[in-house]
Amino acid sequence: MLIREHVPLAPLTTLGVGGSARYFVEARSEAEVIEAVKFARAQDLPLFVLGGGSNLVVADAGFPGLVLKIGITDASHFTAPSGSVVFTAGAGLDWDALVARTVEADCAGLECLSGIPGTVGGTPVQNVGA
Ligand SMILES: Cc1cc2nc3c(=O)[nH]c(=O)nc-3n(C[C@H](O)[C@H](O)[C@H](O)COP(=O)(O)OP(=O)(O)OC[C@H]3O[C@@H](n4cnc5c(N)ncnc54)[C@H](O)[C@@H]3O)c2cc1C
Repeated sequence: MLIREHVPLAPLTTLGVGGSARYFVEARSEAEVIEAVKFARAQDLPLFVLGGGSNLVVADAGFPGLVLKIGITDASHFTAPSGSVVFTAGAGLDWDALVARTVEADCAGLECLSGIPGTVGGTPVQNVGA
């Protein structure tokens, strides 16, 4: 896991403004997420979880702690005995990519949420309702 310092946050948001993260890490597995959180706790740093940056305004002063970008993008699905299709997706997967995946699998339900920017992990936090 690579922890970088003084990383500009503006390019990681849709508004494209704001300062830098004192520390920044992109976690590509659950183990890396845990490692990053441990790092922040050990250094007594504030922690901010970053998704697609589509609902975020970063202050010009930046963020004084650790910005943890979730880069887990795995996705899979299976048909349950009931006939329902169950999708599992990493928090860092692009939301619209998950919607497209359900449509490609001939599943109805998420297609009305197409075109909304952000990540799968940001969605429950932000309560995408379209
Ligand atoms: C053009 C446009 C259209 C939009 N349309 C809609 C719409 O129709 N409906 C709607 O509801 N929203 C809409 N939004 C808002 C936005 O798309 C959603 O709120 C989206 O879910 C935010 O996800 P994100 O990954 O970009 O989150 P970010 O902007 O990166 O983060 C937003 C918040 O979520 C937290 N967060 C992000 N990822 C995680 C995670 N993995 N774990 C814990 N916390 C996390 C962050 O800490 C932060 O507090 C729109 C935005 C834009 C720019």
